[in-house]
Amino acid sequence: MSFLQEFDNEIFELCEKELERQTDHLEMIASENFTLPAVMEAMGSVFTNKYAEGYPNKRYYGGCEFADGVEQLAIDRACELFNCQFANVQPHAGSQANGAVYAALLQAGDKILGMDLSHGGHLTHGSKVSFSGKNYQSFTYGVELDGRINYDRVLDIAKIVQPKIIVCGASAYAREIDFKRFREIADAVGAILFADIAHIAGLVCAGEHPSPFPYADVVTTTTHKTLAGPRGGMIMTNDEEIAKKVNSAIFPGLQGGPLVHVIAAKAVAFKYNLSDAWKAYAKQVKSNAAVLAKVLMERGYDVVSGGTDNHLVLVSFLNKEFSGKDADAALGRAGITVNKNTVPGETRSPFVTSGIRIGSPALTSRGMKEAEFETIANRIADVLDDIENEAKQAEIKAELKALARNFVIYTQPTY
Ligand SMILES: *Cc1c(COP(=O)(O)O)cnc(C)c1O
Repeated sequence: MSFLQEFDNEIFELCEKELERQTDHLEMIASENFTLPAVMEAMGSVFTNKYAEGYPNKRYYGGCEFADGVEQLAIDRACELFNCQFANVQPHAGSQANGAVYAALLQAGDKILGMDLSHGGHLTHGSKVSFSGKNYQSFTYGVELDGRINYDRVLDIAKIVQPKIIVCGASAYAREIDFKRFREIADAVGAILFADIAHIAGLVCAGEHPSPFPYADVVTTTTHKTLAGPRGGMIMTNDEEIAKKVNSAIFPGLQGGPLVHVIAAKAVAFKYNLSDAWKAYAKQVKSNAAVLAKVLMERGYDVVSGGTDNHLVLVSFLNKEFSGKDADAALGRAGITVNKNTVPGETRSPFVTSGIRIGSPALTSRGMKEAEFETIANRIADVLDDIENEAKQAEIKAELKALARNFVIYTQPTY
């Protein structure tokens, strides 16, 4: 019996049920992944009890010699991974990392230009419901009806807005981001270039997506999406002045004590991200997403931008009777977890939407390859073709549960 089971059976039972859900469903939310047991062990380690306000060798508390070792390893591995000079591994999540970048480089009321949330951007890129749109004057660019960023248009908008900072990077964009082009746009208007690679970091560090370095002045990422690490954030730069400002913005600016146990887990994940096994994983993630896009298009579905360059596929139902919400619910009944998503030319509300976003990272971590993704893509199309047919959805759910059970989760990587 585990300590948890003995002490708090209610939480233990919920953990067991969640493990069963994760095992039996096909997790295709593009921002999710399965981390390594070694990462979870570090997250559950003794470092959860340690206060370490400050930075390695500059702490406000005693007894930090081993916490220093942990954080320095995480920083060194992060810099090696993304080929940069400075990394702050303390942000509790991606949103906090972005908040710190703004706090470090902007004054309240300064202008920021980011990708529109409904076009695939993130809340923290200037949405009016987020601190990024409340504390700063925010403006947006978007994608064209073909689902792609038109860089000439971004330049035109930047010239009119004259932002202090331009944010590039997205949460629902299936194509490569041209960081060099964004640098040229930023230079044309004298703006700072901030790249948020939360979604694609795992591909970037494997050489499967162009790097934001040396183009961006500052780069943030989450560590739990394509990087398959613990839930958390990180900020990187090659500019020493920016690094100093970012460090002060994180602590004491926005956060208190760092989560040393999570930083330890980030270091463990980075060790995996630096391995050859990781390069194979990242290639497989892209290959699996490409199969998904190809099969869905062959089955007559409108894949936004006509395919994918990365780990996700956006499917549009603008030409269908049903909505993204309907599709999300129907796929859920068939054991496939995705999320509804707005699409270019959206006609429905953000709570209903005309699309879904499907990702390959989590199932690739379970060891699934092209053959499984072909089967799954066909089942997705089967569900969507006959979206009212709940009996068929139950049948597909049973089939996919059997498929899923052949792929264990929470094992050390086999790539
Ligand atoms: C997920 C995401 C974030 C925020 O991450 P959280 O850890 O959920 O706060 C920031 N930017 C982008 C582009 C994201 O996709």
